[in-house]
Amino acid sequence: MNLIELDHLPVGLLERPASALHHVLSGPALIHLQGKNPQPLFVTVLQHGNEVTGWEAVRRLLKSHYEFDELPRSLSILIGNTHAAKYRLRRLDDQLDYNRCWPGGNHDDSNIGKLFQQVTERMRSLSPIAAIDFHNNTGLNPHYAAINRIRPEFLHLASYFSSKVVFFKMPRGAQSLALSKFFPSTTLECGQAGDVHGTDHCIGFLETCMHLSDIPTTPLDADDVHLFHMVATVCVHDDVLFGFGHVPTEIAFRENLDVLNFQELPTGISLGDVNGGPEWPLVATDIDGADVTSKYFRFDRRQIETIREIMPSMLTLDRRVIQQDCLCYLMERIHFEDHIEVTDHDPLPEALRRSDRQGLPSL
Ligand SMILES: [Zn+2]
Repeated sequence: MNLIELDHLPVGLLERPASALHHVLSGPALIHLQGKNPQPLFVTVLQHGNEVTGWEAVRRLLKSHYEFDELPRSLSILIGNTHAAKYRLRRLDDQLDYNRCWPGGNHDDSNIGKLFQQVTERMRSLSPIAAIDFHNNTGLNPHYAAINRIRPEFLHLASYFSSKVVFFKMPRGAQSLALSKFFPSTTLECGQAGDVHGTDHCIGFLETCMHLSDIPTTPLDADDVHLFHMVATVCVHDDVLFGFGHVPTEIAFRENLDVLNFQELPTGISLGDVNGGPEWPLVATDIDGADVTSKYFRFDRRQIETIREIMPSMLTLDRRVIQQDCLCYLMERIHFEDHIEVTDHDPLPEALRRSDRQGLPSL
C-alpha cells in the first residue's frame, strides 16, 4: 500500500460523504493545503471508517469558508480508511485497526504501520502546530479530548475542545500517543457519528486552531481542564440476570444509566436495584487485574451503591456490549497541577506510571 500525497484537493472531493471517498482515494491520503501561516495544522479523519464527524467538519469548513479565501494557516489532512468508510465500518475484517498502527505499537512492520511511519516522518519535517485525530463513539458520552502527556500546551489544546480531558497511555499504536513525542497532539471523541452538533463543535474547534498564532505554554487554572484517567473496568458477574428499569431481574439497572457517563458521582449514588443473585453482582478490576469491587461499590442494601467519588464512562444499555465487553470504565480525577512535565525528560509521576498499562479501548 502506497501513501497518496497531494498538494491540492482532488476535484469534487468536498462533495463526497465519507462513504464515497473511495472512488477518488484508493487508500490513505495526505493532502497539504497552503495557508497564510505556513506552519500546518495536522488533522486526521476516518482512521475508523464509520466515524465520519471529522470528515464532515473538514469538508464543511473548507467548502463554506475557504473555497475562495486563503486559509489562515496551512492544513495537512490525512484521510484514513476509505475502504471501511465505503461500508460504514470501523475496519474491514481483513484490515488492522488503523489507530493501533502508528509507530511504537505492535504493528510497525505491517503495510499500514509502514505507511503511518512515512506519514509521521513527513509531518515531523513540517513541524505542525498540533495534530488532531477525530473519532466518534457509541452510547451517550459527552464530547471529550484525550491526551498522552501532561504539559501545558497539550492541556491548552485539549481545552479548546472540551474541559473534560482524559489521559491515556494505551492502546499502543494510537496516533496521538505516537505523535505526542514530537508535537502537541490530541484524540477528540466527538459523540455519535452523524450528529450535526458534533460536526458544528468540530468546525468551531478547527477554526480556533487555524487562527492561533501558537499554543500557549503558560500554566492553566485548575478549572480550565478537568483531567481524568481510567482506574478500573466494571463487568456484570456472569451468573447475574440483569435488565433495565422496573424489571423483576436479579439486577435492575436504572433505565437511563448512560446519563451518568462522565458525571462525577458522589458517594451513595445508586446504579440500580439488587433483587437477588450473587453477593457481588458487579466485578471491578483494576489495571493490574486485581479485584477492587469493594473499593467502589456496596450491594448489601438492595442497591448498587457507590462508596467513593467516581466518574463512569462508556456506560451502555446494550446487553451484548455488557456481556461481551463490560458495563463501564471508572475514571478518577488527576490534579494536573501536581503532575505537569517541565522538561522533555520528566518521568511520569509514580501515581501515573502504572497507566502505561491502562487505556481507552474505544478510541
Ligand atoms: Zn475511533
